[in-house]
Amino acid sequence: MAGSRDYQVEGLVIRNAAVGERDRVVTLFTQNEGKLSFVARGARRPGSSLGPSVQVLTRGRFQCVRRRGLDLITQAATIDSYRKIKDDLWCMSCGLYLAELIDASTVEGASNRTLYDLLIETLNVTNCGACSDMVLRSFELRLLQHLGFCPSLHKCVNCGVVLRPVVNSLSAALGGVICPDCLPSCRDAMPLSVDALKVLRFCLSNQLETSCRVRLSISLAAEVEEHTHRFVRFVVQRELKAQDWLLRLRTEAMLTRDNEAPTIARRSEDE
Ligand SMILES: [Zn+2]
Repeated sequence: MAGSRDYQVEGLVIRNAAVGERDRVVTLFTQNEGKLSFVARGARRPGSSLGPSVQVLTRGRFQCVRRRGLDLITQAATIDSYRKIKDDLWCMSCGLYLAELIDASTVEGASNRTLYDLLIETLNVTNCGACSDMVLRSFELRLLQHLGFCPSLHKCVNCGVVLRPVVNSLSAALGGVICPDCLPSCRDAMPLSVDALKVLRFCLSNQLETSCRVRLSISLAAEVEEHTHRFVRFVVQRELKAQDWLLRLRTEAMLTRDNEAPTIARRSEDE
């Protein structure tokens, strides 16, 4: 019956790959159906109306046709091309990292509206120029929380003692913070400063728009990043290309910028 194979999805392009001379395989993270892959015929041709809508980090409504093998995208209307993200190297790298992380942590066809909303909220904040470390850390921690791997941050995961404000350690394998007494029995734990623990707690207990206003010193940002990246790699069980690239950009920033006083430590003293 005419039209019975047609349907529409809203989603964000998280990956695309060239196929042959003219086509692309496009992976969307959709609003209601999770991750789905399609063929976009002719999307590589100059002047193709599909081309701009199937670029990575483009949100749109896609008209699709069911068929054997991958379904086709036949038409697309862009909702947001995230132009400001794409005009800035750091923001673009952050956006690609979010897309790669979603791709690595989801399976095709598993609906996940909460994760979609988190992704779009994070991209919207990033597109408004608030592309801070705190945005990325908040995204990673909420993703881990959503996947059931949220780091335990208030008691030692080995002995259960309430953590004291001293240098503790964080273990991805054990799923949270290790007190100094338990450190000898944990192989993968890395030192976790008092301020870094405050940052992790802050990200999980505040809205994204609150977190993105907090500025970290470069050294504190690097420490927190190393911890969340280890957790993410442990959960997705693979290296993420964009993570390595962000680390390179951060290393460059550490060589060329002065440290700033962290605001997170002051803000958290009231807790
Ligand atoms: Zn302990």
